[in-house]
Amino acid sequence: MRFTRRAATALSACLSIAPAHAWGPLGHRVVAELAQQRLSPAAEAEVERLLAPEHTKSLADIANWPDQLQDDPAMATLWKHTRSQHYINFHGGSACAYVPPRDCRNGRCVVAALEHDVDVLGDQGKPASARRQALKFVVHFVGDIHQPLHAGYRADKGGNTYQVQFEGNGTNLHKVWDSRLLYTRHLDWPAYAQRLDSAAPVKLLPIAPLDNPYAQWAEESCRITAEPGFYPPNHRITPAYVDTWLPVADRRLREAGRRLAQVLNLALDPATAMATKH
Ligand SMILES: [Zn+2]
Repeated sequence: MRFTRRAATALSACLSIAPAHAWGPLGHRVVAELAQQRLSPAAEAEVERLLAPEHTKSLADIANWPDQLQDDPAMATLWKHTRSQHYINFHGGSACAYVPPRDCRNGRCVVAALEHDVDVLGDQGKPASARRQALKFVVHFVGDIHQPLHAGYRADKGGNTYQVQFEGNGTNLHKVWDSRLLYTRHLDWPAYAQRLDSAAPVKLLPIAPLDNPYAQWAEESCRITAEPGFYPPNHRITPAYVDTWLPVADRRLREAGRRLAQVLNLALDPATAMATKH
């Protein structure tokens, strides 16, 4: 087979964004971009102010930073402290109900991480550096909590030990949901976000009346993993599986993007926060 130079470049670009943890880089950037489009002017200005010292500007620029910590020896301690905050494990069966002492011991799960990091982000009394770091985690974790297998079952480590065959290769179901499903669209992240943006609006529950929206989002993810056919028959990801479940993945990206914007507007724009209270 002959490759054109452009095809070879595109291929190497694809390989260099191979999945690691969570929605892959593509999914996280799509979520961030969908949220960016929905920030209030005041929240957007605050994001820019917080990110300016690191010469980044947009939510998409920082969306994958919490996963990149694992590759940076200087960040080894922070990675060790935060690696269990990218997911939550439920117990299977009908137990998609968040019980903190059972499902989030010592606050080591994505639900508790979001509770903490959103608080820090919205606290004007905290140093800008702490709020900047919290912003990076919030952008990333709102994405993660919407990836169904980041709130799956302890027994198979969120699909990581569930082996599957996909496009002629062995992989696992977690990786399929992190990245491989999304890559079947062959879109880069701006085009992917644009595609989702132009689809019909998603209906969202308002954040304010809920006691803990993050727990609810995790429970939604868990319930998706419990739907019939989510674990593919014969451990094979067929074209029919992609046809059925890619729209679900898209819906989760859209929900994540919309909700991330809500969270950031509430935390960073006093007018939005005030309007929600009344
Ligand atoms: Zn992650």
